[in-house]
Amino acid sequence: MADGFIEGLAQKLRIIPNLDREHSNNGGDALRKFPSSDNWHDHVELDANEWPKRVERRYSLVPTTCFNCESACGMLAYVDKESGQVTKFEGNPHHPGSRGRNCAKGPATINQIQDTERIMHPMRRVGVRGEGGWERISWDEALDEISAKIRASLKTGAKDRVVYHVGRPGHEGYANRILKAWGVDGHNSHTNICSAGARTGYGLWHKHDRPSPDHANAKVILLTSSHLETGHYFNPHAQRILEGMMDGAKLIVIDPRLSNTAAMADHWLPTWPGSESALFLAWAKMILERGLYDRKFMEDWVNWEMWLDAAHPDEPCTFERFIELLLDEYSEYTPEFAAEECRIPIEQVIEAGEAVANAGSRLCTHVWRAAAIGNLGGWQVARTLHLLNVLTGSVGTEGGTSPNSWSKFKPELFDDPPDPDGWNDLHFPPEYTLSHYEMSHILPHLVKDGRGTLDVYFTRVFNPVWTYPDGFSWIEMLENEEAIGCHIALTPTWNETAFFADYVLPMGHASERHDINSYATSAGKWVAFRQPVLREYARREGREVEFTHEVNPGEVWEEDEFWNELSWRIDDGTMGIREHFMSPYREGERITIDEYYQYTFERVPGLPEAAAEEGLDALGYMRKHGAFLIEDATYSKHEEEGWPTPSGKQELYSQTMIEFGYPEHAIPHYRIRSHVHPDNLQGEDEYCLLPNFRLPQHIHSRSANAKWLVEIGHRNPIWIHPKDAAKLGVSEGDLLKIETEIGWFVDKVWVTEGIKPGVIGCSHHIGRWRRSQDRGNRFLTNEVAIENLGGGRMRMRTVSGVEPWKSDDPDTNRIWWRDGGVHQNITHAVQPDPISGAHCWLQKVRLSRPGPDEKYGDVEVDTNKSFEYYKRWNEMAKQRETHPRGERRPLWMKRPLPPRKEHWFMPE
Ligand code: SF4
Repeated sequence: MADGFIEGLAQKLRIIPNLDREHSNNGGDALRKFPSSDNWHDHVELDANEWPKRVERRYSLVPTTCFNCESACGMLAYVDKESGQVTKFEGNPHHPGSRGRNCAKGPATINQIQDTERIMHPMRRVGVRGEGGWERISWDEALDEISAKIRASLKTGAKDRVVYHVGRPGHEGYANRILKAWGVDGHNSHTNICSAGARTGYGLWHKHDRPSPDHANAKVILLTSSHLETGHYFNPHAQRILEGMMDGAKLIVIDPRLSNTAAMADHWLPTWPGSESALFLAWAKMILERGLYDRKFMEDWVNWEMWLDAAHPDEPCTFERFIELLLDEYSEYTPEFAAEECRIPIEQVIEAGEAVANAGSRLCTHVWRAAAIGNLGGWQVARTLHLLNVLTGSVGTEGGTSPNSWSKFKPELFDDPPDPDGWNDLHFPPEYTLSHYEMSHILPHLVKDGRGTLDVYFTRVFNPVWTYPDGFSWIEMLENEEAIGCHIALTPTWNETAFFADYVLPMGHASERHDINSYATSAGKWVAFRQPVLREYARREGREVEFTHEVNPGEVWEEDEFWNELSWRIDDGTMGIREHFMSPYREGERITIDEYYQYTFERVPGLPEAAAEEGLDALGYMRKHGAFLIEDATYSKHEEEGWPTPSGKQELYSQTMIEFGYPEHAIPHYRIRSHVHPDNLQGEDEYCLLPNFRLPQHIHSRSANAKWLVEIGHRNPIWIHPKDAAKLGVSEGDLLKIETEIGWFVDKVWVTEGIKPGVIGCSHHIGRWRRSQDRGNRFLTNEVAIENLGGGRMRMRTVSGVEPWKSDDPDTNRIWWRDGGVHQNITHAVQPDPISGAHCWLQKVRLSRPGPDEKYGDVEVDTNKSFEYYKRWNEMAKQRETHPRGERRPLWMKRPLPPRKEHWFMPE
């Protein structure tokens, strides 16, 4: 039934179709949102391409999950039974996170699969690394050669010279298990250019380092975001934010840029980047002054007594006195102060603050990337934002914000090798004592500084040359065979980093690989199965498959089976690696990929029982449905589990910060002014460049071969406010030269009121390139020439923009766009936050008209300057380096792939 009277009337009058009717008027099948899973192996629908003829096609619908962002939404691959090929992707209604819906990037997986330029076979470098020569080799050759190099490194006893560097993760525990089996502290990630700032802020409160907002049940949804709606958890969050709003929730968006979400908000607060903590503390003060805090939650679950003991030992240890003293502590955070710091009207501070203060336990907050990864001290943004949840008692509540780990399923693996017996100083250098993740963005600088080298370096779905700041320093490192003995790029598509590899190994897209996924995309807990759909189709058709590359296009493989094979070959029989790859079901035999998943799914709570009801085993259930809901909602787990912090409570007061040399941050404050704070800019001549937002239809570096997505978005102009445009004398389409600390780039201007005056914006998802000798991604890559000008100076110029070409896909000859944007990231200086370790994305820039020889798309960088600049930021961490009790970092805090405890202490 239609929900509303008007809708019902409109259906009766046939103004809109009646999608609820059980039978269509012409006696055909009922209109449905999704095909019934009972018919998934024999689904019939009309071929749209044959319209108006009614030609039926038969499909096998195989569930898998999207691989285009972290959310892992469910998808159904339509395998055409005539051709045996995947022809399209739709949403999987059985996936509890995405509930049948996808963003544009999900169905565009078909573009990625059918990309005529994708890597089909293992490739080995010919000639000098980076010159662009390649030859096709077999998987056997690749496995033998790479395993020999790893074996040689491991036999030296080194624990830090074989490294796996992951861009897009998405497999719970698989790679870590492999690295443990090899015995290396070899996990590196992209997290320090992504979420590490926010993780530090959350980690200080309760060890759990990500938030899980319950948007659908909130009274107030407070987002601190430069790309929330277009980035992580985009589709699952967007649908729940809308549900919450339809139920009356108010949406507050804090962002200097008018994002799509900000455009839908009740309150858009375009704060000056880095000032957000001032705003949150002003709101905290409002809550305290008005007595709107949740006394019970705070008394029970916050370590307020520890703060009184440490900071006010002579005061009575009562909750009332604590509130008074906290108000004294926060006395400077008035609405006037917040308005001045944020450069927004005081009325906005108060009006939105009223909504927050009155939200009670249904205050739902989120920050991801955005300000937390943009600014020096960005981690305080997450810490002060969470303070609002703590004060209102909206931690772990319905409509509030929970720790993400409550909603994330951790698989039980068939074998757990011992923790690494070493510590990798290139990943966790001693001066970054509180860095939540690996210092991956300064790896080239650490190597240049003589602090280590690598024997074997895997980049997995990871493209730092393009995605990271200061990409020329990455090229410099990757070209240096003394620094990186062997570089292997595991990737589904060509990319700027793969151009500088020794081996390029084709790994599958979403429907061509196995992975387990579980993310806190809602208040519940789910597990999903990314499966190679043609393998499952073969199984349904009764065909035996040993390895996934037998059914994938070309020789495209998957990491899972690759790691197993590689591990087996590394071990010459004396290294104890093979024992971690034995079947848990068949004594003395090697594990198969099906057994791996069978073991894990058999241990998912409730799954074997649900499977039995359908006459299936646990693996069979996941093959059929693709996902399973473990818990509906995961509220209030602290009442059973407590908080995993030293005090066992929410840590308003952090003894850890004091012990590690930062006493001024014992409790949440706004003590650090961002490097782009107006006081740190050179008057009106310097601007703040906001580069860390996404376009909704792009992924960092894997959507350039998705033609539908590229057609929608392929340029990244400079967003500039009309006032600034007038000051600079530029209008729409004019060129501007943007000078960073280490170089410059030339881009076109887009004049818009959607950006705060004094701030300019530029999405960092566009500006892909390839040199004349490189291949791939021609939908979105400019052809460029790179020139070494000497003395560390590197220049990149566009030779030609995007152009059509002839291929088996007629669309490649229909490309109408020519502009592939500008690679701005490569001109950014690295700016490692001394506390969180996270890269501070925002850049101080100077703007001018380009010179006569400076053209659109030109880029120039001085890598010597970038090294000197890195050292200045590195010095900030070194000056405060403190190791209480000899600890490298707090023993209680999280660390990816933690080594054995003895390595957590500085060597004597
Ligand atoms: S939000 Fe979009 S890109 Fe991300 S997993 Fe879902 S469908 Fe894929």
